[in-house]
Order: sequence, then C-alpha cells, then structure tokens
Amino acid sequence: MSQSLKPIDNAKIENAIRDLLDAIGEDVNREGLRDTPARVARMYSELLGGMRENPEIHFKSVFTEEYDEIVLLRDIPFFSMCEHHMLPFIGSAHVAYLPSGKVLGVSKMARIVDCFAKRLQVQERMTGEIADLMMNHLKPLGVAVVVEASHSCMTIRGIKKPGATMVTSALRGLFRKDSRSRNEILSLLHQDRR
Ligand code: ZN
Repeated sequence: MSQSLKPIDNAKIENAIRDLLDAIGEDVNREGLRDTPARVARMYSELLGGMRENPEIHFKSVFTEEYDEIVLLRDIPFFSMCEHHMLPFIGSAHVAYLPSGKVLGVSKMARIVDCFAKRLQVQERMTGEIADLMMNHLKPLGVAVVVEASHSCMTIRGIKKPGATMVTSALRGLFRKDSRSRNEILSLLHQDRR
C-alpha cells in the first residue's frame, strides 16, 4: 500500500502555497516570500516522508534470543502532523514487547515510530498502528505502546491550553489479556523519569 503511492508533487504544493499566500492578502513576490513555496514543498516532503516508507523492512533485523522478559524502549521522541489541522503534534512514544524467541534491533523500534509519525496522523491511530505492526511481524507474546504528545492545534489555537498532554495506549496479546503482565508493563512505563 505505502509503496504504490505516486511521488509527492512539489510543483503542485508550490502552486498551492502561492495561492494560500495570495488568499491571505500577502504579496507573493516580496523578497521574504519569494522562496517560501519551494521551501514549504521540501518541508512537506520531509514531514510526510513516512507515507512512502514500508515499516515492515525493519523486521529484517530480528534475532533469535531466549530472553523472555519485557523489552521496553522508553522516551522515543517523535514529530507528527495532525490530519485535522495539519499542525504538528510532538511528544514521545514508549514501545514494549514480551518476546517469544525473537527480539528486534532496538534502533528499529525508533524507526518504526518515525515511519508512522511522518504522516498526516491521529494520535490514537498511530498508537494502534505501531502496536499492530509489532504484533503481526515480530509475533511476540504481547505489545504495549504508550504515546504522550502535545498538540499545537490545541495549544496555539482553539481552546489554547499549552502544557496539556494527550496520552494514548494500545495493549495487545498478554498485556491486554493478563492482568499481571498488564500491571508489570504499566508500572515500568510510569516509573520515575530521571
Ligand atoms: Zn488537530
């Protein structure tokens, strides 16, 4: 799915940004704005690059390992873009799994978060997508993903509540079914931060 998309059309973005500048009453040709459409087009290519990446490739670095305790990568920073306002939401993700004979290279967990973040997103969906991908491709006993983020669309506009953080979680497998595993992962996730 993600690979069959046509490439980002930079010329079309540039035209749209010129129209936007004109619509708000700006002089599209003044010095400071002359290169803005091209800059914005390059920016969107970068911020939305995850749409054209396939996160499944990261499961090539899966290793057989008899480790059967929780693996948790905490505080993975990410930047994403809310699809309702096209404004950034920024925060950190915590990704944990309970291996079943296979472990994943630790940097891959961060790359998977990036791949889903660099799209037009909804935080709830992103949280579930990371969990489902890990569950389907690593086939661990359980996966837990917690995402905490601050949404510009509610800090700088609308209700204007800077400092408010949205927390979403997705629990799969044992973390969902077994209350002891769930309590263990939740207490690890909420341990004091330095
Ligand atoms: Zn929004």
